[in-house]
Amino acid sequence: MRRLDFASLLLSCGAALLFSGTAHAQSSGLGAAVKGYVRVQAPRIVLMHVRVIDGTGAAAVDDQNVTIENGKITSIDKSTDVASSGDTTALDLRGCSVMPGIVGMHNHLFYIARPNLTAQRRSDPPLMVPEMAFSSPRLYLAAGVTTMRTTGSVETYTDLNLKHDIDAGKLPGPHLDVTGPYLEGSTSYFLQMPHLASPDDARQLVEYWADHGVTSFKAYMNITRAELKAAIEAAHKRGIKVTGHLCSVTYKEAAELGIDNLEHGFFVNTQLDPDKKPDTCSQSAGEETLARLDGSNAESRDLIDTLVKRHVAITTTLPVFEQELGEGRPPVRQAVLDALTAEAREDYFLLRQRRRGGPAPKIDPQVLWNHETALEHAFVNAGGLLLSGPDPTGAGDVLPGFGDQRGIELLVEGGFSPAQAIRIATLNGAVYLGRDQQIGSLAAGKNADLVVVKGDPSGQISDVENVEIVFKDGVGYDSRKLLDSVRGRYGEY
Ligand SMILES: [Zn+2]
Repeated sequence: MRRLDFASLLLSCGAALLFSGTAHAQSSGLGAAVKGYVRVQAPRIVLMHVRVIDGTGAAAVDDQNVTIENGKITSIDKSTDVASSGDTTALDLRGCSVMPGIVGMHNHLFYIARPNLTAQRRSDPPLMVPEMAFSSPRLYLAAGVTTMRTTGSVETYTDLNLKHDIDAGKLPGPHLDVTGPYLEGSTSYFLQMPHLASPDDARQLVEYWADHGVTSFKAYMNITRAELKAAIEAAHKRGIKVTGHLCSVTYKEAAELGIDNLEHGFFVNTQLDPDKKPDTCSQSAGEETLARLDGSNAESRDLIDTLVKRHVAITTTLPVFEQELGEGRPPVRQAVLDALTAEAREDYFLLRQRRRGGPAPKIDPQVLWNHETALEHAFVNAGGLLLSGPDPTGAGDVLPGFGDQRGIELLVEGGFSPAQAIRIATLNGAVYLGRDQQIGSLAAGKNADLVVVKGDPSGQISDVENVEIVFKDGVGYDSRKLLDSVRGRYGEY
């Protein structure tokens, strides 16, 4: 299949790209480790005859020219033929579409290691999440992610230095919103997270890392209400937002404490879990609650009303839950397996096998999935800000970048139009980050952070996978070269 795709690419969208690759190869301002991945760079770049999906949710517009100058989009208008000359590189992109760079809002830079994993799905403690500072940024950029939140860091200095080096042109990767260390309570089983002992502890952590440059925070499953309150107050004093993957604190409690965002859609709200006690995570960690919220009953309406009134954004992370649905889901793409180390690939197959043979879950995963998508629609219809991210911590099936694309496809499967799904994964994230004047949609004056894909994702959403060139700040990166550079590396570094 891939071979055939490549053949047809030569006849349409890709033909001009292959030709133009040599048109302007100078890459001033970028270091040696980045230059090799640049496919097009010029003072003025004209993307001719493209379909524009602008990220606002508006219908796609065929046959447009997008002009990029000095890192910005300077015009989008009806196509005319422009010749490459002097400072101008013109690409004939018939058969291609252009969409905004993805703004990934639940993206990580680490991988979940499972030491000595067995066929029974048991691994040796402790659970570790090694940092993938080499492969993750490349996978994100290759897939069209141009901005992402790290959504909880385990090596905060690494993340901050990585951001610096990417911004300085020394390393390839997306723009990073670096989230501080997880704000986790004292009962955590994650060795790499801070275990807060008091509200004062939470406040100090936020102040320290805000001083050192982190731009967001994430609370975790065992934080207490008092610690969360202290963290939110300290972060807000500095204009920094707080999100949470919660359990010990319910969605309504967190909304009332002023949290800005909640992760994992509606999967981890514990307010109706029968064994829920204040400040303590419940057994089902939210499944019991989701089973009782169908998107339209009184409890659903009340929750959505609270979230919308309090301006709490919700991040959907459907890819990390997809494999829970078991049989009938499409296999992971070959390109995903190709990116994994041999060991990570083996773990993926072990985990998949176990899921097929395992005992039936207490609550039908399909019911939870249906309630989740119904709640997402109800939330958006009520005016809520829905963000998207893959949470690349699954069982080897959810990877940086690939997972971001899968998230868009799953939003469409759940009933959003392709244009709406793309908006959720682009402009909505930019709005949350307060960067929607610069990024998130395609318009004259905005940063040239955009993705050239073969085909038409506004009609067939899986075309978001056919990434050709990813422009970040007006420099066009070669998606395939970036992917090739991490082949067999994800899981190691
Ligand atoms: Zn996560």
